[in-house]
Amino acid sequence: AAMLALDATMLAPQRAARQEAFDTQALQRLDSAHFLHPFTDHAALRKRGARVMVRGQGIYLWDSEGNRVIDGMSGLWCVNAGYGRTSISQAVYQQMETLPFYNSFFNTTTVPAVRLATLLAELAPPQFEHVFFTSSGSEANDTIVRMVRRYWDLMGQPQRQVIISRRNAYHGSTMAGASLGGMDGMHAQGGLPIPGIVHIGQPHYAQEGQGMTEAEFGLHAAGWLEQKILELGPDQVAAFIGEPVQGAGGVIIPPVTYWPEIKRICDKYDILLVSDEVICGFGRLGTWFGCELMQVQPDLITFAKGVTSGYVPLGGVLVGSRVAQTLIEKGGDFNHGFTYSGHPVACAAALENLRILIEEKLVEKVALETGPHLAATFAGLASHPLVGHAESCGLVAGLNLVRRKGDTVHDCEHFDSAHAVGMICRGHMFDNGVIMRAVGDRMIVAPPLVITKEQIDEMAERIRFCLDQTLIDLR
Ligand code: PLP
Repeated sequence: AAMLALDATMLAPQRAARQEAFDTQALQRLDSAHFLHPFTDHAALRKRGARVMVRGQGIYLWDSEGNRVIDGMSGLWCVNAGYGRTSISQAVYQQMETLPFYNSFFNTTTVPAVRLATLLAELAPPQFEHVFFTSSGSEANDTIVRMVRRYWDLMGQPQRQVIISRRNAYHGSTMAGASLGGMDGMHAQGGLPIPGIVHIGQPHYAQEGQGMTEAEFGLHAAGWLEQKILELGPDQVAAFIGEPVQGAGGVIIPPVTYWPEIKRICDKYDILLVSDEVICGFGRLGTWFGCELMQVQPDLITFAKGVTSGYVPLGGVLVGSRVAQTLIEKGGDFNHGFTYSGHPVACAAALENLRILIEEKLVEKVALETGPHLAATFAGLASHPLVGHAESCGLVAGLNLVRRKGDTVHDCEHFDSAHAVGMICRGHMFDNGVIMRAVGDRMIVAPPLVITKEQIDEMAERIRFCLDQTLIDLR
């Protein structure tokens, strides 16, 4: 039915993008009439109309009205190599011409999938020699649920079924992904979590660490895991899963004592440790994987997003030797997989993307140059009257908006949630050419790894202007 409403402009977006000849309102009408967006209030969207993104280059996006926008969120934390990488599109094109698809079921493989599995084994921490491919982070985390339960079956402990996760975690939107996640709003829709998944508190010092040093709080928060294990019975627990730094939950950076203590507890009770690196993997924190920065060795790593910089969907599970050897030596068929597991085009995109990250030393750049500069810049923004405190780790950072600053993170006065200050601020960002995300009153960024120090300054200037505008609105 919609075809009648389409004109040539809409069917040829690339050409039109260069001519800047979009009919934004027509696109918005069609969008509203036919497109159900993820995580979107459609009644509100209909009033406002979706912003139509048409082109990207480096850290910048252009919308259909010709506005240039700094993408402070790398799309959805994924465009690590930045937009407009022709070598990735060429790699994709060539693979499409050669072999657009073949599966990896039934004793077959493809050249890009073999090469990518090999490269990932090289980039991952030493205990990882194997990878299971999916097309998304959610599917990777679904795979975890089946894989860890299969592992314990094979180990003669089939009763080990429970997976422990954390409140306010995000692990995806499939039934298992959303159950592993700890988002109340998601659990409230669709009868989640599914059985066998339980949650403990998050290591959120500003929210929960009153009266403790950060180091004390890290140990305290890790202790919640031990309490839960003892409550459930250690022989019932299969695995613990966590993001090194919680992303969608609001860039929650744990104290340095947290992850080593989590690892100690997992080892003590022989529980598998899963690091969800869908955001933290591929350089985001200045190391190839976030667990390396946190100095822990997980048994399994899930990944997606940055592996292809989002150019083509791809995800997977890096399987450490403990689980891999058991699956391989004792497991026979693992009755799990996706049509697109190891999709050759996605793998070709990943290979070229990773070549770029390596050749341009983007991970090192985050560690030594842009990460420290973002930290210093955000520390500068913390002088703004609206900002209680700023935090950063590699190329993720957050600003807490408060009614009154305090001497410590625990004695700031917060806005009541009805003010929706984060959303007001996000609105100003949106109108002033910088994309930042609001999680409650916490404003967060995760720019592409190609961002330069000068571009960080440019982004910060716009952020400061938008903070000023927000402050004016609140008066
Ligand atoms: N895990 C984490 C930590 C994520 O941030 C996300 C997505 O934002 C996912 C899993 C789910 O990935 P996907 O949206 O590719 O299914």
